[in-house]
Amino acid sequence: MQVPFLSLHDVTAMHGDEIREAAKRVIDSGWYLQGKENELFEQHYADYIGTKYCIGCANGLDALIWIFRAYIELGVMQPGDEVIVPANTYIATILAITENCLKPVLIEPKRDTLEIDDSLIETAITSRTKAICIVHLYGRCAMTEKIADLCKKYNLKLIEDNAQAHGCYYLPPMPPEGGGVVTPMKAGIDMADPAYYPELKRRAAQMRANPTEAEEQLWNALCEQQIGYKIRRQHIVSQYILDFAYLDNRIAIELDGGYHSKENQQYDDAVRTKHLESFGWRVLRFTNSEVFHDLESVISQIKSAISISSSPSGDCGAGRLIRTGSIGDAAGHSFYPGKNLGALGDAGAVTTNDPELAAAIRALANYGSQKKYVFKYTGRNSRLDEIQAAILDVKLKYLDEDIKKRQEVAAYYYDHISNPVIELPTRLLDENNVYHLFPIIVKELGNERVGELRNRLHDYLESWGVGTVIHYPIAPHKQECYAKEAWNIPQLNLPITVYLADAELSIPISPCMSKEQVEWVVKCINEF
Ligand SMILES: *Cc1c(COP(=O)(O)O)cnc(C)c1O
Repeated sequence: MQVPFLSLHDVTAMHGDEIREAAKRVIDSGWYLQGKENELFEQHYADYIGTKYCIGCANGLDALIWIFRAYIELGVMQPGDEVIVPANTYIATILAITENCLKPVLIEPKRDTLEIDDSLIETAITSRTKAICIVHLYGRCAMTEKIADLCKKYNLKLIEDNAQAHGCYYLPPMPPEGGGVVTPMKAGIDMADPAYYPELKRRAAQMRANPTEAEEQLWNALCEQQIGYKIRRQHIVSQYILDFAYLDNRIAIELDGGYHSKENQQYDDAVRTKHLESFGWRVLRFTNSEVFHDLESVISQIKSAISISSSPSGDCGAGRLIRTGSIGDAAGHSFYPGKNLGALGDAGAVTTNDPELAAAIRALANYGSQKKYVFKYTGRNSRLDEIQAAILDVKLKYLDEDIKKRQEVAAYYYDHISNPVIELPTRLLDENNVYHLFPIIVKELGNERVGELRNRLHDYLESWGVGTVIHYPIAPHKQECYAKEAWNIPQLNLPITVYLADAELSIPISPCMSKEQVEWVVKCINEF
């Protein structure tokens, strides 16, 4: 049986008629650049990712280059400043940094997740560090709460390379009470995660038994006889314990200075709010002092929130989650044909919520001009063309469906690949992995060098009709282009990154694989 690594022919054929129709529409329109196809796609993609702005540009590398360049133009960064970046990435992430005369500071990946090891970041931060650039490599969410904390603590920009992860979600994990590692919950359900429920219930009971003074005062004012609505105390939603909750239309009432902001429960309130909002909750926050000194106004705000969103039009729990590409200050996206959302040529985009950054990037990618024949920056021509925008707009509609199919293939791989020479990366929840690639890692065994074993597996699979690709055979810091750089990248000691370059092999994964093809891949791998 033949299983190509990726058949772009088949991927395009899935929506071929609609794609041809979109291209024809543009061809017949006589308008090929900076028109309404760009406008529509940018709007739709910004909505999809969950940001205010999307700026289309020529490709994914440019998208990343423009983010750093715009920060330089806005005076946020200066040439020579440092950017923390994973060493295990496609080289474009690093090219975008060096292109702007910034200094990449390479961080090893975790051996099991293959993503940036957040425990190594803090020691790499210096007075010149201006940003952390994370890469959601292979389609796996690389964001962690620790990274969020570091950005806050050191006032760093967070930039996402989302070239491989369109459609992926980030769910901040529950803070471990005793330091244990917890994985993110199953999202999109507004009930407790069953895995955490017993522990959450224990904590909620403890909190109910030991209310703070402000909680007690507010609770007395909120009980049903007083306010006319049934409010609950310490109500568990997904992985959180809400101070107070009105369930009918999902109003969460949180007291800052309450239990959840105590030391070992430190929570990023903004992230918590965003996360709850993604489940259709509206979060009202009050300080203890407001409760003590202006209880009347607190109660009236709560009442009005409850009555306003009591209207039946309130679309609660629509499941709008936090996507990668909307977590940080800005994100670069690639629509290279082989990506999960691929154009039929080169294309890319930046997403951000920052209006100044968005305006600078839009100008930079258009010769540096904001107004015709007036040039604010020395920019370049790096625009998304109308045909690609129209095609992307068609494919965007099917992206979530396509991702589901990838996740089904991946689930079969995880459940059935059992060859002891092969290690699979940590299995994430589907919300956190859009499976752009499915990397398998060859183990070090006996005397054979791991690179040789990996190459032997590649050749063996090819002989059985299974196409595989190495991502990536030479680590960026070992590339010739960086051999002479003053920052001495090749001298860096990055053993895990180098190991992965020898041991990684990506097996076929795409939305148009048949069940027989998936089974064949597994059978061949297990018989190696
Ligand atoms: C594809 C890719 C890019 C570059 O995108 P292009 O559109 O090919 O320029 C950047 N970063 C990562 C991680 C990628 O996979």
